[in-house]
Amino acid sequence: TAPLAQAPLTIALKPSSHPLPAAEREARLASPGFGRVFTDHMVTIRWTEGQGWHDAQLVPYGPLEIDPANMTLHYGQSIFEGLKAYRRADGSIATFRPTANAERFQSSARRLAMPELPVETFVEAVEVLVRQDRDWVPTQPEQSLYLRPFMFATEVGLGVRPADEYLFMLIASPAGAYFPGGVKPVSVWLSEEYVRAAPGGTGAAKCAGNYAASLVAQAQAAEKGCDQVVWLDAVERRWIEEMGGMNLYFVYGEGEDARIVTPELSGSLLPGITRDSLLRLAADLGHETAEARISIDDWKNGNADGTLTEVFACGTAAVITPVGSVKSTRADWTVGSGEPGPVTMRLREALLAVQTGQAPDTHGWMHTI
Ligand code: PMP
Repeated sequence: TAPLAQAPLTIALKPSSHPLPAAEREARLASPGFGRVFTDHMVTIRWTEGQGWHDAQLVPYGPLEIDPANMTLHYGQSIFEGLKAYRRADGSIATFRPTANAERFQSSARRLAMPELPVETFVEAVEVLVRQDRDWVPTQPEQSLYLRPFMFATEVGLGVRPADEYLFMLIASPAGAYFPGGVKPVSVWLSEEYVRAAPGGTGAAKCAGNYAASLVAQAQAAEKGCDQVVWLDAVERRWIEEMGGMNLYFVYGEGEDARIVTPELSGSLLPGITRDSLLRLAADLGHETAEARISIDDWKNGNADGTLTEVFACGTAAVITPVGSVKSTRADWTVGSGEPGPVTMRLREALLAVQTGQAPDTHGWMHTI
C-alpha cells in the first residue's frame, strides 16, 4: 500500500499524577546499574493500516496488556534503538545524534516490513520524554539516561504476513557508569560454530530476533572464559564482523600516525552510530582511517608481528571498550600489551568530551533538550 501523507503528530501530554517521590528517585539513581530502573513516563504512538500514525501520547510508565495471539509473540516483527541523554557540566541535557538513530530505526523497519516512523516524530518523542523526566538524568560522571525506542506488531492473528497494526514506544532508564572501577579490557571468543547474520539476512537491522539468536554464542564465549563473542562472516567464517553489541576497530602503528581500521559495512553487521562518529573523530585527531575487510589471520599475525597495536570495540553503552585477548578453536593470543592502549583511550576521552559538553561539538552531533 502507498504510504499515507501524514500530518505532523503532536504528542499529547498526560503527566503522571503519581511520579516517584524525589527521595525514592534519588535512592534509585544512587546505583542504577543498567536497564533495571525506569522513569515515570513513556511515549506511545499507534500505527494502523489505512490510517497511518496516530494517538501519540506521553503517559505514566506502566505495563501493557497483550493478547495471546499478538503477532509479535509468534512471528517477531520487533525492532528497537538505543541512545543516551547526558547531563552537561552546566546542568543542561543533550542527546547524541538522535536523528541517526531515527534513520536507522526507519531502515530496520523497512527490513522487517514495518511502517517507518517519521524522523521528526522519533526526535520529538525523545524530547518530550526527556523534558518530562529530566530529574531522572543522572548528574554523576559517566552516568546517563538510556533511551529505548522500540516498535512491534499489535495485530491479533496467526496468519504469517506483515501486521496491519503496530505500537511505537519510548521508555527511559538511568544507566550507571559502564566501568565504575576504571576501563578494563575484555577477552573475546571468535565464534566459528554460530553465525549472527548472513548476506541477505537481518544483520544490518536492529531487530529483536538478532539478539535472541546471539545468546547461545554469548553463553559459549562465557563457557570458554571470555567476556564477549566476536562474530565472523557467514560464508567463509574468516572475516571479522563485530563483537556482541558493539563494532570493532583495529589500530595499526602508534601515536598520531596510527592508522585506524574498522570492518566495512558488509550488510550483515550493524552500522553503529559510535562507529560512524569515531571514523570522523579519529580523522579530526589526525589519524588515517579506513573501512576494510579484516580476517582472523590479519588479526593474529598483526598482533604477532606488532604492526597491530590495539583493538577496541565501540557502541552507545560503553562508548569504547579495549579488547585485551582473543581465544578461538585454533589459537589464543594477547592484543598488544593486553592493557588499554593510548590511542584507544585518547579516542574514548575525545568522544566522551563531546558528549558531556567538555569539547566543542564541531560536527553538530549534540541535540540539546
Ligand atoms: N552492533 C550491535 C549488534 C549492536 O547492538 C550495537 C548497539 N546498538 C552496536 C553494534 C553499536 O551501535 P551504536 O554505536 O549505534 O550503539
